[in-house]
Amino acid sequence: MTNPYEYEAPVSQTLFDRAAAVTPGGVNSPVRAFGAVGGTPRFMVSGTGPYLTDADGREYVDLVCSWGPMILGHAHPRVTEAVLAAVARGTSFGTPGQGEVELAEEIVARVAPVERVRLVSSGTEATMSAIRLARGFTGRAKVIKFAGCYHGHVDALLAAAGSGVATFALPDTPGVTGAQAGDTIVLPYNDLDAVRAAFEANPGQIACVITEASPGNMGVVPPLPGFNQGLADLCRTNGALYVSDEVMTGFRVSKSGWYGIDGVTPDLMTFGKVMGGGFPAAAFGGRADVMEKLAPAGPVYQAGTLSGNPVATAAGVAQLRLLDDAVYAHLDRVADDVTGAITEALAKEGVAHRVQRAGTMFSVFFTDAPVTDYAEAKTQEAHRYTAFFHSMLSQGVYLPPSAFESWFVSAAHDTAAVERIAAALPAAARAAAQAGQAAQAGQAADVDQEGERR
Ligand SMILES: *Cc1c(COP(=O)(O)O)cnc(C)c1O
Repeated sequence: MTNPYEYEAPVSQTLFDRAAAVTPGGVNSPVRAFGAVGGTPRFMVSGTGPYLTDADGREYVDLVCSWGPMILGHAHPRVTEAVLAAVARGTSFGTPGQGEVELAEEIVARVAPVERVRLVSSGTEATMSAIRLARGFTGRAKVIKFAGCYHGHVDALLAAAGSGVATFALPDTPGVTGAQAGDTIVLPYNDLDAVRAAFEANPGQIACVITEASPGNMGVVPPLPGFNQGLADLCRTNGALYVSDEVMTGFRVSKSGWYGIDGVTPDLMTFGKVMGGGFPAAAFGGRADVMEKLAPAGPVYQAGTLSGNPVATAAGVAQLRLLDDAVYAHLDRVADDVTGAITEALAKEGVAHRVQRAGTMFSVFFTDAPVTDYAEAKTQEAHRYTAFFHSMLSQGVYLPPSAFESWFVSAAHDTAAVERIAAALPAAARAAAQAGQAAQAGQAADVDQEGERR
């Protein structure tokens, strides 16, 4: 099959071929496969500061940052030092340890609504456990989630779940039974009337509303003013819990995440990504009276062999302690500079686009209409992103391989890195402007490819 975007990446191609022989689709998380943009995924071998180097020896400015965690850049010396010291002390004990206490204290100190916190190993575990706890606490079964919000690959939450699922156009996933999804109510994002109506139609049955604090998994779509407060109020009035998923936004969009920006108090919150410093550490926490229902304090069971792992917690503590006001001010400036350059380049080529921003997170939609929910996000001209993405990639800038993802910057993105991004943008904007027949042919090829991979 010919791919209009293919160019030399022979070592990555060889690795991808080997990977495909032993791993479904050649990857361990679907969006990494480049299914939405076509071409060969780059196998990375090292990272330093704002740069990644692939197996073919090409360097890229990284605007994915491992989907958020690498907020200090790659291989930050202080984080690396903390990790090496932890490894030397032993990598897992299956007992409580000091690192867990320190990481929990860091989270509680930064995010006021979190009175108690439990550590887990992935964002998926955090949301899965938060939902179980909300059901156990309220004695109710139903959960409200929003179309386009992703909360990990939890069975009950894998309906209309944004990017990964959007990218692969799976309306639903086989393997999730009607019983598992049947208690999930999916509503349009930013629509309080729909939430009000759902509470009225299911009196005394809704355990919780779970929402991304500010969604980043359908591209960046911030809550409209009053939306999160409205959710919190409706939950309170109806005896349900308000669960704010800050796995992506936590310690990323501000020192205390999206909570630090809108100040709306959830009953439960979930965290991951940044708090693990590049290791598998995540958490859920919130009101003491709710959290105390968890085993061994209470009857709701939850556990994990590697929960609070000493290496992961050492990385997380080291990273969080370095995230001071100066870091967030720097991230804001970098986001200003990069989004400014994007707008300038696309406007010059007359490409309809919209940069949306939530604190230090942002993404580009190829449409000029505001995007406030998933249905609007899907109306963008995603084929223009394909052309834009590959132009940037070929010029050494690594963007998310999907039009429905947030972009991420780091404290290590300095003037030189921003200039490299800015220098690549005019050609990428031209490619986006010209994306027409060729891109559509490419898209058709991608669909075939995905079909084969599925
Ligand atoms: C990434 C993400 C998750 C899932 O976290 P994993 O560590 O990938 O399981 C959950 N919720 C949100 C908002 C996320 O961005």
